[in-house]
Amino acid sequence: MISIAKPLIGDEEKRAVLEVLDSGMLAQGPRVKAFEEAFAALCGVQHAIATSSGTTALHVALLAYGIGPGDEVITSPFTFVASANSVLFTGARPVFVDIDPTTFNLDPALIEAAITPRTKAILPVHLFGLMADMDAIQAIADKYGLAVIEDACQSHGAALHGKRAGAWGTGTFSLYPTKNMTSAEGGMITTNDARIAENCQVIRQHGMRRRYYHDELGFNFRMTDVHAAIGLAQLHKLEQFNAARIANARYLNANLRGVGVPITPEGYTHVFHQYTIRVPDGRRDALAEHLEANGIGTGVYYPVAIHQQTYYTRQLGYNQRLPEAERATQEALSLPVHPALTQAALETIVASVNGFMERA
Ligand SMILES: *Cc1c(COP(=O)(O)O)cnc(C)c1O
Repeated sequence: MISIAKPLIGDEEKRAVLEVLDSGMLAQGPRVKAFEEAFAALCGVQHAIATSSGTTALHVALLAYGIGPGDEVITSPFTFVASANSVLFTGARPVFVDIDPTTFNLDPALIEAAITPRTKAILPVHLFGLMADMDAIQAIADKYGLAVIEDACQSHGAALHGKRAGAWGTGTFSLYPTKNMTSAEGGMITTNDARIAENCQVIRQHGMRRRYYHDELGFNFRMTDVHAAIGLAQLHKLEQFNAARIANARYLNANLRGVGVPITPEGYTHVFHQYTIRVPDGRRDALAEHLEANGIGTGVYYPVAIHQQTYYTRQLGYNQRLPEAERATQEALSLPVHPALTQAALETIVASVNGFMERA
């Protein structure tokens, strides 16, 4: 079976975890600090704050900007549900803007029409490893005085004009096992804003600026040193992992026929968290079944757009048409692209896809 994702854990990660266990310092400590410093350097930012997951990184970052009830945050409907749920956790309302069909990311041309006096932030998602159009999004945010919180949970090491994901606004990353790098579970916030960084640290730890003095409400969203040790070992391998993903994607792009392959617009470094094709003519699910029968794992990310999820329609009253996001839920299919793929596996994927599509 050629799996859709495969975490690559080596001796470095195992040794690093054992060292932490032997040290007796298990909770948030020196490894977390070292991981934060290395992650900030990776992104080219001044501050990084580790959290327990990508979801808590998003939640904390939003709270750090003071976002709450009565506020609106503009985001993508075509993403993992955590992008929008984190806005709900603060009491604010996610406002969905349709995507650009060529990139699967927020269409900046549609953002201004969604801005109201309640809008406080834009939360672009860098989906599948490709950054959103941050030049255009940053220009709109500057014009209206809005915060920018990047959901970079799928884009560790991605860049636009050489500037990394997480370095444009305040960035949020997931370190879940299937992501481009992992700490088992974990998250990271990146920012150049010292005030936001301090707010994040306080919210992560029970609203505590001084030990056992609580002037505001916070959470326990800390990362452990055990997880940080894994993350730090993985961070040193990220460039190599991403290079392998990019090479695999290049091979697939050059050889697949009859499907829409992912594009990398000029100026972008796409790190291919997912290699996502479009399958025309309603044949997506049939192709996925065919590949599965041939021992090739696939993923449908995502089968339902967030504005059409039952919780959003029934409980929150969302009732909106976003045609490109909805079309993407019908056509998008992710193929294996992870760094552990062999040349033989890539050739099997190409032969299976092309064989199916040719029998049109
Ligand atoms: C994985 C992911 C998250 C959530 O991260 P967790 O670590 O699973 O909490 C949020 N947004 C996107 C786009 C993701 O892919």
